[in-house]
Amino acid sequence: MTNDATEMSIDTAVYKTLLESTEAIPWKIDWATLRFAYIGPQIERLLGWSQGSWVGIDDWVERMHPEDRSWVVDFCVAQSKAGVDHEADYRALTAEGNYVWIRDVVHVVRNDKGEVEALVGFMFDISERKKSEEKLLQLQRELQELSYQDGLTGVANRRLLDSVLEVEWASAQRGGQPLSFIMLDIDCFKQYNDHYGHLAGDDCLRRVAQILAASILRPRDLLARFGGEEFALVLPETDLESARQVAERCRAAISDASIPHRASDVSHLVTVSMGVTTANPADGGGQASLIEKADRLLYRAKQNGRDQIVAD
Ligand code: GH3
Ligand code: MG
Ligand code: MG
Repeated sequence: MTNDATEMSIDTAVYKTLLESTEAIPWKIDWATLRFAYIGPQIERLLGWSQGSWVGIDDWVERMHPEDRSWVVDFCVAQSKAGVDHEADYRALTAEGNYVWIRDVVHVVRNDKGEVEALVGFMFDISERKKSEEKLLQLQRELQELSYQDGLTGVANRRLLDSVLEVEWASAQRGGQPLSFIMLDIDCFKQYNDHYGHLAGDDCLRRVAQILAASILRPRDLLARFGGEEFALVLPETDLESARQVAERCRAAISDASIPHRASDVSHLVTVSMGVTTANPADGGGQASLIEKADRLLYRAKQNGRDQIVAD
């Protein structure tokens, strides 16, 4: 046996141990036969079906909630045929007859000729996350009922922001996840009103709100009007670097909209300043500290000359 081969076999054993000791459940499906080439033994702990009972793709399809089945299968097959990595959330049936929310993250493996050879992936148990999402959906339903909506811009108001922050803070605390927060303020907005009039100012606020709403991509992210010409973004499960990227995207989108602002000190267009921060709620503290810190960073962005992002 050559050295290379020895190293290979050690690596394989190490990989197998690693793969089988993760929370996530690894699997592989051979594309030609649509049979499982592998599934981690952890599957039994999560769903109760033994490792050996996962033979072909039909076992996967049958052990899925009937309401999720058709779209998940259609979506995954189409993506796989197109050779595109993808992910899907669905309810998987347990041996006891209950359902567990799973996120399946799928990577398409191709051979030398570029043909699809296999699908490999990880299944994640996302039931806890789904519970928070259910609570948030409930809150969103209340948005209409209890007027959690800002009258001028149609986005969430301060009241909803506070409720969502509370839920997300607790959820991040339980899950040990980071929670990011962005405070955004339109630059020289007093001059905007003075120059164009208050009604044009209102239009500008609506436009900025629309642009921001279109710039957040995850369904759980929340945009709210904090008050006046200030907006806030709550970004669950988002670290500082990703939050800074969201802020950059918002800033670029507002810049691309080229809303004239002749009276601004910093530009001839409407610009914004932002404070971006991240907390690890599991380390303690409270959601008020997140707002205070973002506010301090926003103040620094203003002091540094506006039209910028300060993240810390
Ligand atoms: P900075 O760059 O430091 O943020 O300066 P600024 O002029 O934007 O800040 P300032 O706090 O001095 O002024 C905010 C202005 O926003 C004053 C207020 O009249 C205006 N404003 C707040 N709410 C509304 C609103 O609902 N409609 C309109 N049109 N203007 C608003
Ligand atoms: Mg302000
Ligand atoms: Mg302002």
